[in-house]
Amino acid sequence: MQTVFDSHVDPELVERSLAASSLDSMWLDIPRPSYDALSGSVTADLLVVGAGYTGLWTALHAAQRNPGQKIVLVDAERVGWAASGRNGGFVDASLTHGLANGKARWPNEIETLEAMGRENLDGMQDDIGQLRLDVDWERTGMLAVATEPHQVAWLQEAADGGEGRFVAQDEVRAEVASPTYLAGLFSPDTLAIVHPGKLALELARACVEAGVAIFERTNVTSIDSSGSAVRFGAGNGTVTAGRAVLATNVFPSLIMRNRLQTVPVYDYVLATEPLTDAQLDRVGWANRQGIGDSANQFHYYRLSADNRIVWGGYDAIYKFGRKVKPAYEDRPASYRRLAAHFFITFPQLDDVRFSHRWAGAIDTSTRFCAHWGLAHGGRVAYVNGFTGLGVGAARFAADVCLDLLEGRSSARTELEMVRKRPLPFPPEPLASIGIQATRWSLDRADHSAGRRNLLLRTLDALGLGFDS
Ligand SMILES: Cc1cc2nc3c(=O)[nH]c(=O)nc-3n(C[C@H](O)[C@H](O)[C@H](O)COP(=O)(O)OP(=O)(O)OC[C@H]3O[C@@H](n4cnc5c(N)ncnc54)[C@H](O)[C@@H]3O)c2cc1C
Repeated sequence: MQTVFDSHVDPELVERSLAASSLDSMWLDIPRPSYDALSGSVTADLLVVGAGYTGLWTALHAAQRNPGQKIVLVDAERVGWAASGRNGGFVDASLTHGLANGKARWPNEIETLEAMGRENLDGMQDDIGQLRLDVDWERTGMLAVATEPHQVAWLQEAADGGEGRFVAQDEVRAEVASPTYLAGLFSPDTLAIVHPGKLALELARACVEAGVAIFERTNVTSIDSSGSAVRFGAGNGTVTAGRAVLATNVFPSLIMRNRLQTVPVYDYVLATEPLTDAQLDRVGWANRQGIGDSANQFHYYRLSADNRIVWGGYDAIYKFGRKVKPAYEDRPASYRRLAAHFFITFPQLDDVRFSHRWAGAIDTSTRFCAHWGLAHGGRVAYVNGFTGLGVGAARFAADVCLDLLEGRSSARTELEMVRKRPLPFPPEPLASIGIQATRWSLDRADHSAGRRNLLLRTLDALGLGFDS
């Protein structure tokens, strides 16, 4: 069975549209300050490793909780250069990679998790307002769209379950003009969109203003917890800290037992040039919702403040060996596929060109959402595994890490989601074989009216899976 995304698109249009695009994240194509690399020895009350959103929120909230403490934040490269500077900028309230995943795994606490997720999203909006972070925050809501007949029933079911308002075909096309839309589900409260690069850089500014010392190009390579404080080998120096948070996401964990917990999955993104008013008029989209289609292999797309369309997803590529490598980012087949799918969705935009193309590694967990823990005698906290929905959840994750380090029981640390570890991925070659078989099955399901084969049903029953 074919899907709408198997429709023919003129290959010359695709080539032309990508010809002038540069291979880098549009979100990081902005002026930015530099922070020195660490050299020599420093001491700190708290060391935070990793200056993506998780590390930045951790450092900021730690400074707010206890203004007197000395906090050092280090990154192996630059602030926000990794997933935090490459994502779609969808700030979703869900802490569980969507309601369905959370409900299936934690049926007894899903209401609490949903409430905490909403509180986190509102809290993020308050933080951004109070700290005057200039991050193009727009509380647009989320529009899920059905592009295949069987997905219409899924959206109706989600609406019946309270996830939003079902929107019939005529209305959804009047909102955003795509001939692929068969229905929609609009959730007004659960999503904001943000400029991902500005969010990282502005959080860093707020950290510095709160007294945090930031060091870039400072790779942490060792942890020694044999003394009364923990000693970290960091760049050309050392940090001796009372406590630490590891916010290293998809990169090899400094805690060996966590190395099998996640796999890097490459996700690809395009950004158009700013649309002219005439081009935008052809699409409508006056309410600027974040949009996602509903297959296993899905696209997510949104407008930027200067009216570019940021268009990502579909391919989720895992490479044998679990490596994060810049060479994996240049994947012409994925960019061509994304461009073709863009013109299927918006055929009226065939005069639009892409200015940027980029990829990022998602830290995929078998349960599709973060897990936490303590190591080195309770002095080091870690979090990993956001699986493609970490922009909002990173702020919540930071607070969990701080609660854990303080050794205090909170509503957050009492969650089963926080207390339980997910199952790891197997080592190679099993990881690769399993993931490729799962990806193939997900593609087959998309081409078979959503029907899941034996492998997917078995994984569902075991609470295991692969997503982006
Ligand atoms: C293409 C793409 C699209 C996405 N779209 C969305 C979206 O629309 N919405 C959403 O919610 N989520 C999305 N995500 C996921 C989201 O971006 C991430 O979950 C989130 O940014 C994770 O933040 P982080 O701080 O944990 O990790 P990162 O941003 O990856 O930061 C980790 C940092 O740790 C540093 N580091 C690692 N090891 C060391 C070490 N040993 N020493 C020093 N520093 C170290 C790295 O250099 C890096 O800067 C997307 C991800 C990708 C890749």
